[in-house]
Amino acid sequence: MTAYDPNNIFAKIIRGVLPCERVFEDEHTLAFMDIMPQGDGHVLVVAKSASRNLLDADPAVLGPLMVTVQRLAKGVKAAFGADGVTIMQFNESSAGQTVFHIHVHVIPRWNDVPLRGHTGEMADPELLRTQADKIRRTIGFVGFTG
Ligand code: 5GP
Repeated sequence: MTAYDPNNIFAKIIRGVLPCERVFEDEHTLAFMDIMPQGDGHVLVVAKSASRNLLDADPAVLGPLMVTVQRLAKGVKAAFGADGVTIMQFNESSAGQTVFHIHVHVIPRWNDVPLRGHTGEMADPELLRTQADKIRRTIGFVGFTG
């Protein structure tokens, strides 16, 4: 497997070198709005530890990662009155992965509303901020200082 690149986009977001619309953070994980959402309220949950994807991840990070995925799944469903939530996770280019730092997609779903394409349009930053506000309020996230 190709080596982990510490300068990938999500590693830079975790280090605070690049901005993101953060909706949750704890010691092990960070969640933020996807800038090219496949549906309204599309959130990405990343593990803070360095791995490309599920295949090279330390098993110890998977528990905390899924705990945050569940928190955000419940959060986006409640925040947007969704009917369900799609969870997606890709491993390597052949499987559709484009950013090589382990992450999970959390996407609210409504009956009869299809997902948009995986590499779609950039969202309006104002809209993402409004949606992120809603999620933060719903899950009670006020910040992380760890
Ligand atoms: P993958 O295909 O690797 O599972 O998904 C990567 C996701 O990251 C895509 O849904 C894409 O829209 C999103 N993305 C790519 N670059 C950025 C970025 O700079 N900021 C944010 N917030 N999302 C990004």
